[in-house]
Amino acid sequence: MVRLGSVSIVGAGPGDPELITVKALRLIRSADVILYDRLVSEELLLYAAPRTELVYCGKAPGHHAMPQAEINRRFVAYALEGKRVVRLKGGDPFVFGRGGEEALELAARGIPYEVVPGITSAMGAAAMADIPLTHRGIATSFACVTGSRCNGNSSPIRWDLLAHSVDTLVVYMGVGQLHEIRHELLRHGKSSGTPVALIENGTTSRQRIFTCTLEDVHKVASSVKLSNPALIVIGEVALLREQLHNIAACPASQIS
Ligand code: SAH
Repeated sequence: MVRLGSVSIVGAGPGDPELITVKALRLIRSADVILYDRLVSEELLLYAAPRTELVYCGKAPGHHAMPQAEINRRFVAYALEGKRVVRLKGGDPFVFGRGGEEALELAARGIPYEVVPGITSAMGAAAMADIPLTHRGIATSFACVTGSRCNGNSSPIRWDLLAHSVDTLVVYMGVGQLHEIRHELLRHGKSSGTPVALIENGTTSRQRIFTCTLEDVHKVASSVKLSNPALIVIGEVALLREQLHNIAACPASQIS
C-alpha cells in the first residue's frame, strides 16, 4: 500500500527570490513535486532537487491558466501517490491566493497539509518602495483590497466605507479597474489630492514606481503603460517615499 503523501501550501514572497522564508526553501529542496504559479520567481525553482517534478499552473501567453479544479485534482493525485507536494504561490497563499480553497479541498479529502506564510506583495513591495503602510501621525490602519470586483459583482467592494475608515489602501489586481476605483473613491469623498503610488513588479529587478495623486492616477497609469503585476497604494504614506529620497544621502537602493 502506498503511504499517503502531503501537500505544503507555500508562499514564495512578493517577487525578489531572497524574500522567501527559510521554511519554504527547505520544503522546495525536499519536494517530490512543485506546482507553481505565474508570479513565483523561477529562480526559486533552481533550489529544487533534479528529481523534482515541476508543474507550471499559471497562464502561458495566449493560453488560459490551469483551472483551479484541475490544480486541485493534480495535487490530490500526487499526494495519493505518496508524494511530498509543494504548492508554491506568489506572495502569501492566503492573501488573494485561493490558498484557503486549496486547504479546504485537502482537508475534505483527509490529505495532510500545512500552510507556510509568505510576504504578501503589499508589504514587500511597499517596504521596498520606501512606503511604510502605517506611520505614526499619518496612518494607523491599512487595508488590502482587490480591485478586480468593481463592477456588478455579488459582493461589491465597499468603497464608501474604505474611503473614510482606512488610512492606507493597497489595491491588488486593480490596474484594469483604475478608472472605476478612482471614480468610486472620489464619489465617496476621498480627497482628489490624496497621494498615490503605483508599484509594478515590486521587489524585482523590473520594479517601476510612480507617485501621483488620486486626481491624475488614471492618466499617469496610462502614460507609463502600467501593467500587471502592480499594486495601487492610496494614502498619505505614499508621500514618505519622496521625503525619504530627498533626505537620504545614500538611499537603500544604492546599497548592493
Ligand atoms: N497572494 C499574492 C497575491 C495574488 S493576486 C500576494 O500575497 O501578494 C495577484 C496580484 O498581486 C497582482 O495582480 C498584483 O496586484 C499583486 N502583486 C503580486 N506580486 C506583485 C509584485 N511583485 N508587484 C506588484 N504587485 C504584485
